[in-house]
Amino acid sequence: MALGKDYVTQECSIARALEVVGERWTLLVVRDALYGIRRYNDFLAHLGIPRAVLAARLQTLTAEGILEKRRYQQSPPRDEYVVTDRGIALWPALRALGLWGRQHFTDTAQLRFFRHADCGTELGPYGECPACGTVVPVQDVLMEPGPGLDPNPADPVSRALLKPKRLLEPLQIDPVGQV
Ligand SMILES: [Zn+2]
Repeated sequence: MALGKDYVTQECSIARALEVVGERWTLLVVRDALYGIRRYNDFLAHLGIPRAVLAARLQTLTAEGILEKRRYQQSPPRDEYVVTDRGIALWPALRALGLWGRQHFTDTAQLRFFRHADCGTELGPYGECPACGTVVPVQDVLMEPGPGLDPNPADPVSRALLKPKRLLEPLQIDPVGQV
């Protein structure tokens, strides 16, 4: 019997959220969408995920209104997946989850820094700026590589993510062979 993804006995908003984002890979697809990844092949290269699983996750996330499919080329038809406000609203949860993972289970040097672009201060656990005392809009979050990140990754998406960039800004990927 296939493992169901709903929690019928739970009257709980966490359970309801997990029915949407609790499957393996789903939150990592959302993370990548927040990093500015939009295209199927770029998700594929960055996640190293089986094609069928990626297709299923993109379909679910689109059906749930977390990603929006947009046509960027007519012939041949090509779509990209852009994170919606409903998806962007997952950022504080992802920020808190990442920090929790780092504090309790990771012993490498810091992989990425997330800063308030206006003042350069590293964000607090929920995406707030401790210096300005404000919640930082996701598009004003500056992502920078940390010392723990592989400086020479194999895939072009990871290479592109070595450059400081704002979240949500579409990721510019260098053509293969050029760095
Ligand atoms: Zn600030």
